[in-house]
Order: sequence, then structure tokens, then C-alpha cells
Amino acid sequence: MLVDLDHVFADPLFDPNRCGIGYHPLHSAIPIFVYVLGAIFIKNSIIRLIFIGLLFHMFTDFIDCLWMFSYCEECYTSSEIYKWLNFSD
Ligand SMILES: [Zn+2]
Repeated sequence: MLVDLDHVFADPLFDPNRCGIGYHPLHSAIPIFVYVLGAIFIKNSIIRLIFIGLLFHMFTDFIDCLWMFSYCEECYTSSEIYKWLNFSD
């Protein structure tokens, strides 16, 4: 998937104990919001499929993160998802 180029450009290049969601430029809150809107509202079926594919990719990355968090507490507390959920404090 093309969006994984995003993982390659991230620094450091490969870190299995880092959640990609919120970290990579194309995996942060605003792009994900755009993918949701695109998947819902875009009429062109090919472009729409691309947005759905992107969303599905975010979903699989998210599952990876949850799996990682289940055995790595520090991975969770240092992730962007943790910051989103604890935005109020
Ligand atoms: Zn990804």
C-alpha cells in the first residue's frame, strides 16, 4: 500500500515498539478525518475505494498498536493515541 511510504520516511526508519498511528504524517488525526469524509462523501467509486483502503490501513495499524500496548505499557503512554485520549490534562 502506498501509504506505507509514510512509514519509510518516519524517523527512526524502523521501530517495532512504536505505534504508527498519530506518528506518521499520513496517520495522524486530520488525515484520518479526511479519509473518513472521503469514504463517505466522494461519489467517484475508484477514489472512494482508495479512501476506504486508507481507512482499512489505519484500522490494521491501530490493531497492531493495541496488540503492542497489551504487552508494552510504556509504548502506550508514549504514543500519540494516549495523548489524544488524555488531551484534557
Ligand atoms: Zn501504516
